[in-house]
Amino acid sequence: MASLQVRALSVGYGPVRALRDVSLDVPEGAVVVVLGGNGAGKTTLLRAVSRTLAFHRGAATGGSVTFDGRALDGISPARAVAAGVVQVPEGRQVFARMTVADNLRAGALGSRAGSRADTARSLARVHELFPVLAGRSRQRAGLLSGGEQQMLALGRALMARPRLLLLDEPSLGLAPKMAATIAETITEINASGTSVLLVEQNAALALRLASHAYVLEVGEVTLSGPAAELAASDEVRRRYLGITDEAAPPPAATRPLARWSA
Ligand code: ATP
Repeated sequence: MASLQVRALSVGYGPVRALRDVSLDVPEGAVVVVLGGNGAGKTTLLRAVSRTLAFHRGAATGGSVTFDGRALDGISPARAVAAGVVQVPEGRQVFARMTVADNLRAGALGSRAGSRADTARSLARVHELFPVLAGRSRQRAGLLSGGEQQMLALGRALMARPRLLLLDEPSLGLAPKMAATIAETITEINASGTSVLLVEQNAALALRLASHAYVLEVGEVTLSGPAAELAASDEVRRRYLGITDEAAPPPAATRPLARWSA
């Protein structure tokens, strides 16, 4: 059974239609990526799953979201977290004035983490994945580097013991080496049993991580399939990986430019 099913989902912010008839699956234990440019609706999709649209004056106008056979429509964001659906928002939103340790503790509040022993186990796991956070636990989060703040944002989400992790552009603004480190960690988190729905503009990185991929354009799914197939498709190579097929003649209008870039 698919762990997350989105069916014919439409979302609006007042008069703005952000998603139209979007359907998507995250099978149990999978990493699924949603690619798309600015304003395509990627963040909106994650908000719809984490039940946080109302915080942004948005609302679903049609369709459904089901997690492990249970409809998420109508439940509160806190109940979604308690069910194991946890979002890491875009932009590394850590509590800058709180210590690293307190940020992590905050992640366990209201989550599936039942007992103290569970919380201690989650913390040990976070420190194992991100040793730098253990070393900095008494420091204010605002003093961490961008990459370390991304680790903390991920670590805080892990404290809630997610079954489905929703990641909003985790590589945004990071140097390639740090982005690669975060990608490796996502693979490790997934290997220990957490499904992942990832939205990314960094298609090269995301397609290596994911088993399935969707392309969202202006609120609609225009392409979907196994990540390897999408990575090989001309459209994705051209639009999201910046690769032009030298064997194919370029369209007439771009011929002079193509010659310059050769
Ligand atoms: P980006 O990569 O730039 O974050 P995105 O693919 O995540 O883009 P969304 O942020 O989901 O796209 O935005 C989809 C559409 O909804 C855009 O047209 C955007 O302007 C609009 N939108 C997003 N949030 C709001 C909001 N709170 N109020 C009104 N319109 C919004």
